[in-house]
Amino acid sequence: MVGAPLRPLTLIDIGANLAHASFDADRDAVLARARAAGVAAMVVTGSTLDDSEKAIALARRFPDQLRATAGVHPHHAAGLQDSDSGRLSDLLADPMVAAAGECGLDYFRNLSPPADQRRAFGLQLGIAERHGRPLFLHQRDAHADFMALLRAHPAAASRAVLHCFTGGPQELEDCLALGLSIGVTGWVCDERRGQDLRKAVPRIPGERLMLETDAPYLLPRSIQPKPAHRRNEPAFLPAILEETARQRGQSAATLAAETTANACRFFGFTLSNDANALI
Ligand SMILES: [Zn+2]
Repeated sequence: MVGAPLRPLTLIDIGANLAHASFDADRDAVLARARAAGVAAMVVTGSTLDDSEKAIALARRFPDQLRATAGVHPHHAAGLQDSDSGRLSDLLADPMVAAAGECGLDYFRNLSPPADQRRAFGLQLGIAERHGRPLFLHQRDAHADFMALLRAHPAAASRAVLHCFTGGPQELEDCLALGLSIGVTGWVCDERRGQDLRKAVPRIPGERLMLETDAPYLLPRSIQPKPAHRRNEPAFLPAILEETARQRGQSAATLAAETTANACRFFGFTLSNDANALI
């Protein structure tokens, strides 16, 4: 008897920058490869208001595979004014928007001054809270200030995911105490940069963990051969699943089921009966 081909595990990529120009030439093929790899759904990250509109337009073109976030990344915080609140509120009300963000603090590069970052983050926390939307958060080298702002918005923090978590066990404890979920990227596949993260990964409670590529960034080091221009894409999410499962001492199948259920619950997604598409 010839066995049926193994069906790939069903995964959800909770953070992919698919509106990025590096996907302009072959976006349809990228989405087809994602589906073939078992990535049933992807959340397209919005990082400015204009970019969020692009993410929403993309989700509208591929409603069975994509949803969007709407928000302003800390790199662009200086450009977000109080007068933009109405526009951001309108974006958050769009049915294709699954979460507010990405927003947060990034003191690693300080592309916007820290004071602007804190102001823009506080503004977005308040708007997300008023809209009752889940939050897609970014934090780098700003743990203490990030925690302080979230503690001032406990309702928002209770339904938030810290994407691309790279911290160690202590930062993880702080995040978990606030109720945050944790997004793990291909950083976990980097045995040199990911030392802290590798200590934290086994301690993330199963019901708080989600997976993401952060494509086109953070190509997992384990991908061989390296794709042209080292561009990351959602079809590589299974490599992140495999490595995360290995570090947690779980089977990939168990972790896939857990993380997909978490993403559906967190973002309010429903998958089709064949688990191949969003409905
Ligand atoms: Zn980010």
